[in-house]
Amino acid sequence: MSPRRIAVVGASAAGLAAAEALRRFGWTGTLTLVGDEPHPPYDRPPLSKQLLQGAWQPDKLHLRAADQLDALGLDLRLGTRATGLDTATRTLTLDGGERLACDGVIVATGVAARTLPEAAGLDGVHTLRTLEDALALKERLSGTGGHRLVVVGNGVLGCEAAAVARELGHEVTLVGREALPMARTVGTEIGELLAAEHRERGVQLRIAAVDGFEADGDGPARQVTAVRLADGTRLPADTVLVAIGSEPAVGWLHGDPALDTTDGLRCDAYCAAAPGVYAAGDVARWQHPVHGRDLRVEHRMNATEQGMAAARNLLAELEEALEGDEALAPAAGRERRPFTPVPYFWSDQYGLKLQAYGVLAGADRSEATVVDPDSRKAVALYGRDGLATGVLAIGLPPRLVRGLRALIATPAPWEEAREGLRNALA
Ligand SMILES: Cc1cc2nc3c(=O)[nH]c(=O)nc-3n(C[C@H](O)[C@H](O)[C@H](O)COP(=O)(O)OP(=O)(O)OC[C@H]3O[C@@H](n4cnc5c(N)ncnc54)[C@H](O)[C@@H]3O)c2cc1C
Repeated sequence: MSPRRIAVVGASAAGLAAAEALRRFGWTGTLTLVGDEPHPPYDRPPLSKQLLQGAWQPDKLHLRAADQLDALGLDLRLGTRATGLDTATRTLTLDGGERLACDGVIVATGVAARTLPEAAGLDGVHTLRTLEDALALKERLSGTGGHRLVVVGNGVLGCEAAAVARELGHEVTLVGREALPMARTVGTEIGELLAAEHRERGVQLRIAAVDGFEADGDGPARQVTAVRLADGTRLPADTVLVAIGSEPAVGWLHGDPALDTTDGLRCDAYCAAAPGVYAAGDVARWQHPVHGRDLRVEHRMNATEQGMAAARNLLAELEEALEGDEALAPAAGRERRPFTPVPYFWSDQYGLKLQAYGVLAGADRSEATVVDPDSRKAVALYGRDGLATGVLAIGLPPRLVRGLRALIATPAPWEEAREGLRNALA
């Protein structure tokens, strides 16, 4: 009989959290962790912050030290891509053609950066998702090749990179389709506050679609020289960062008819996509029982929390089938529970720290209170269908911010949450 095996696909924040939780919840069988990047698990948020600034070196990004990874007793396959999954037999295929029979699989393949087809083959046009991406952009920004950066995309990643580049002394233009920085996530009032901060720091803000690029040279050495906007404007550029969002990494799952891969891997409230197959992190779209709708959350904390939940629920599912099998040791707390987090994210731009709890996406109303316009201190409430679902704070004391979580932990009537927010600020 082949050894009992669980495979976790994706060796980053969610995959690592899942692997650790599988061990903690009693999995003693083979634990295969497959990751297509060559690196052991590392943290992505510092890529657009401390690493790009030059404050941190890559070794500070490791999520675990080598001995901590060793202690997990992993069958670790780095630099290896999963190319297919047959959910009926729980067989995972790897890029070398190897087929692994599994008792369970956790999909934690995250997302990949979207890019513009016109950027293909142009030197000086970057995306920012991986360590290599960040190092290449950092090298470019610290080189002697010119100081004009155009950031295409004014969502959170574009805003963070624009802030760092500006602090490094570059001329920065932030181009986006959103009327204000991050407006799709944070709404108009907070967007205006961010726009004011970026402008004051010297960033040029443009609302426009990108039509294409101009470049010098031939073949692979074609160097970008400008970004062309749909309104005919030409923005001279030495470097371009394309930060226009991401695509869930589900292409390798398309062959299995049991899986729904529309906007991520669709799961039930327990993070299960099919029997014995679970998903976690940026790639997972799951049914949040409290919010009553499917969510897919690209936040660092969610990756860890969902990795742990998927691992626990998978083992709870396997318990009956593996009763008495030594691959599954007794462990406390191994019951199946719906995954009901209060999502949390943060973003750092210049000295500003944005922190948000709950669900801001899909809000049909928002209301911001600017506590201090000069230092951009502010708080905002977000809601949908008469309920408050999310809250965001900029520059407020950590204790106060933590307290705001309770207002929306369970979606509350809008007026009640509004009153609670007023009291918290009083
Ligand atoms: C630059 C940057 C800054 C960020 N800043 C913040 C922030 O300030 N706050 C915040 O809350 N969040 C932030 N995030 C988001 C946060 O980093 C993600 O939510 C988190 O990394 C998600 O972890 P994950 O494990 O689900 O996915 P990922 O980190 O994307 O990892 C998925 C892994 O799976 C691998 N993979 C994909 N397909 C395959 C395959 N077929 N076979 C094998 N391996 C595969 C990928 O290469 C990758 O290594 C930031 C992200 C980026 C890129």
